[in-house]
Amino acid sequence: MATKSKFQAIRGTRDLLPPETALWNHVDQTAHAVFGTFGFGEIRPPIFEETELFGSAIGAETDIISKEMFSWPEGGTSVESELPKVWMLKHLGEFETANREYVFENRQQLDLVVRQSDQTLVVEFKRRTINQATIDDIRQYRRSFSERFPEQKPPKLLLVFAEEPSEFVRKLAAANEAEIEVLHVPGYETRESVSLRPEATASVCRAYIEHGMQQLPQPVKLYYMGPMFRRERPQKGRYRQFYQIGAEVLGGNDAPAIDAEVIEMVMTFFDRVGLSGVELNINSIGHNAPDCRPAYVQKLKAALELVKDKLGADSQRRIETNPLRVLDSKLDHEQAIIATLPRIADHLCAECAAHYAAVKRQLELRGVFFKENWRLVRGLDYYMRTTFEITAKGIDSQNAVCGGGRYDGLVELLGGPPTKGIGFAIGEDRLILSLQESGKGAAPQGRDVYIAWMGEHAYAAAVHAAKDLRNAGFSVELPPTELKFGKALERADKLGSRYALILGDNEVSEGSWTLKTLAEGTQQKFTEPELLEFLKSAKASEPRS
Ligand code: ATP
Ligand code: MG
Repeated sequence: MATKSKFQAIRGTRDLLPPETALWNHVDQTAHAVFGTFGFGEIRPPIFEETELFGSAIGAETDIISKEMFSWPEGGTSVESELPKVWMLKHLGEFETANREYVFENRQQLDLVVRQSDQTLVVEFKRRTINQATIDDIRQYRRSFSERFPEQKPPKLLLVFAEEPSEFVRKLAAANEAEIEVLHVPGYETRESVSLRPEATASVCRAYIEHGMQQLPQPVKLYYMGPMFRRERPQKGRYRQFYQIGAEVLGGNDAPAIDAEVIEMVMTFFDRVGLSGVELNINSIGHNAPDCRPAYVQKLKAALELVKDKLGADSQRRIETNPLRVLDSKLDHEQAIIATLPRIADHLCAECAAHYAAVKRQLELRGVFFKENWRLVRGLDYYMRTTFEITAKGIDSQNAVCGGGRYDGLVELLGGPPTKGIGFAIGEDRLILSLQESGKGAAPQGRDVYIAWMGEHAYAAAVHAAKDLRNAGFSVELPPTELKFGKALERADKLGSRYALILGDNEVSEGSWTLKTLAEGTQQKFTEPELLEFLKSAKASEPRS
């Protein structure tokens, strides 16, 4: 029985133990094998990265970033406290000539709103990248400002960076008419904060840029496996340290065949590990251009406004912040309302519609069954077109075992060249749970041979026999101290050993060893070379597990 010890694993983390770890290894090995046949190579990125990498890639407003990350300060300059100070010092003179009427105001996501007598300046302080969300916030502020003060000039937008931003950031800023200022902060150090990775796509994209992988033949196909960390409320199938197996295809074009092949690969993997009740849901969420998703989001928002009173508080808030996420709602009383909302598939631009149709054809060609689910969405702008989710049976409400989709803008958002991208992440903990619940758990690992020895000569022979048998691939248990044969056979049985090799000093001097087949209670005598041959041929004729 388990005892309460002084130290325990932290809530939301757990020890994976034998025999379960054998199942984990089997799943890992199957992924290596299947992904290898699709031409994917393994990447092992570090487990912690700069916090800002995740903030930029996943979006500062998501639950993951806003409340689920394990972060710690790394001693670098705090952009929040240092940049505004340095900026104000540098520009103090300009304020003083402006009638000294300026005020500072912290609003929503905006760092600083400086009001001078005839001009309002919105200043946003950043390390070197910005999210689309930042731009959207600034835009919205600008709009509401013009509504409130129609007689005043619209506010000037300024993005102040502590490091040279990438070309992409500059373009994004220019497109939204923001000015950029790069400020030298004395003693400035990067890496203000680092975080345990909550997912790995950001790291893979960072590595793609950092190692100039766009120079390699495109697309680059990478997969990873390992622990991820999110400060979530622990429950069955939801942990603070959990494991993902994922893959990304970066670069090249966005041919629908790539989407279909990535999905075919996950489904092949699930099939190979024997996952039951697998259901693939797919959708297209279009792309971020005026004639596509944004137009749909406007329609959705208008439709949601009409039923706002009937929605719960979360959904009501999302009408403003992220209307697409309302479609995600699991609340019973909202389901009938959601069913009446406009559907994105009916509002895709011509190219996205054609791409989606082609992905579906390609899936059919590969014999991959899918269900279209118009409510399957992603909340971030760089996600586009194909999105998919795979569920399996036996994991109650946490039944999503894989999420994936296309994210063509992500590498560029992280400061890299324009790069197509698609990938997925499998929740390995949930995959294992599902396998176990459908009776595919690992059997306790027995031993092939338990060596029951008695006597000094016998011990020397036993040590050598153990070495030879292990070299031949058998699992061998060699008791470290002498045991009476009766006791030794009892232990052999408890360990689930298939054979017991009985070695006493007599057997050794006669060169005739006794092998007992424990389940049947039969025994045979062999010379040492015969024994090895016998065990090998017995193993070869066993059914493969
Ligand atoms: P969910 O909606 O279940 O929270 P998610 O959208 O946060 O999932 P993703 O970020 O897409 O999940 O991660 C992909 C997969 O990783 C999920 O489908 C799930 O199987 C698994 N996963 C995510 N968070 C956890 C967790 N805290 N514990 C165990 N598995 C998780
Ligand atoms: Mg989640």
